[in-house]
Amino acid sequence: MNPVPRAHMSRLERYAGFGTRAVHGGQTPDPTTGAIMPPIYQTSTYVQPELGRHLGYEYARVQNPTREALERNLAALEGGAHGIAFASGLAAIEAVLKTLSAGDHVVSEENTYGGTTRLFTRVLARLGLEFAFVDTREPDRVRDAFRAETRLLLVEPPTNPMMRLCDLAVMAEIAHENGALLMVDNTFATPYNQRPLELGADVVVHSTTKYLNGHSDVLGGAVVVDDVSLADEIRFVRKTTGAVPGPMDAWLVLRGTKTLHLRMRAHNQNGLAVARFLESHPAVHETHYPGLTSHPQHDLAVRQMDGFGGMVAVEMGTPERAKRLVEGTRIFALAESLGGVESLIGLPAAMTHASVPAERRRAMGITDGLVRVSVGIEDEADLLEDLEQALAGL
Ligand SMILES: *Cc1c(COP(=O)(O)O)cnc(C)c1O
Repeated sequence: MNPVPRAHMSRLERYAGFGTRAVHGGQTPDPTTGAIMPPIYQTSTYVQPELGRHLGYEYARVQNPTREALERNLAALEGGAHGIAFASGLAAIEAVLKTLSAGDHVVSEENTYGGTTRLFTRVLARLGLEFAFVDTREPDRVRDAFRAETRLLLVEPPTNPMMRLCDLAVMAEIAHENGALLMVDNTFATPYNQRPLELGADVVVHSTTKYLNGHSDVLGGAVVVDDVSLADEIRFVRKTTGAVPGPMDAWLVLRGTKTLHLRMRAHNQNGLAVARFLESHPAVHETHYPGLTSHPQHDLAVRQMDGFGGMVAVEMGTPERAKRLVEGTRIFALAESLGGVESLIGLPAAMTHASVPAERRRAMGITDGLVRVSVGIEDEADLLEDLEQALAGL
């Protein structure tokens, strides 16, 4: 993977490859003990040596050294100057939106994570932000959705769960022509497979709950930006509204990112193997995965991504057949979420996207027969055998 040449980064962060940055980015041994791992600073406040002088740390909502180590690491991986960690992915997205004001307009991909749509339509719209939802595969539709008040364009390639892409360089151009910012939810791709800041995006958001932590044992979120005044605005919202991650959770995500490159190689390899297997299986009607040559945007995927990840969606035709598949696997566990080392399977219409109105789900292609799998890092042969036995007789 190419190093990211950015003037503000340390020598290591500028010249090292992705794996070296994953292991070392943003971290230095603890100065008091030499501990090679950043300590978990489990404290709410910090003692000040004298009135009016502190050591850079006053109160844990504002500063925490464990959280800051994670933030520097995430910034190094995305190739941005500033990482800002949150208690969850939705808290990260909400904080960016709260830099806007009532009357401002946001253009959003229509097929985003279900919780993002709910945040926009059920909470932020009540507070006066306005939204347009469009299919961002079509640049003209995106352009047409812009108004004089549009401040932000949100995209999420590959989308959840339909695995649709948009051209990030084109999206950045449209946003900037209109004086707006481009925000990319990079949760599905991860910086190992796709680095939006290099393609012109202004804000990258993550649910670190997923691949970045990677072990299904923590909830977290993050924003990475390059611009210092934008970083200051988002940090101001965070310190004022309070959605910070605890130090233990920050430490767990930082432990997770150390192996991101190894895990993503395995997710990419298993994801492609599972997608090819499902595509060729007679019981499966359609397989959605950007790494398949049958994916309508495969050329864009090859151009924009370094790998295609572990998320695969299949159309089973009917809810009954979908139910038999999700209940018939033994290794793939029936559960929401994604991006962990273990393989999961689910039915978006009844689980992750249940809060999206049925007619909007249908318009996006999320039928009651659509099954989504998060392919883990188990042995490929075992995963294929598990799917084979679950599909037998369907
Ligand atoms: C899970 C997810 C979110 C929300 O993150 P939480 O950590 O659950 O709050 C946002 N975007 C995408 C793409 C997700 O998968």
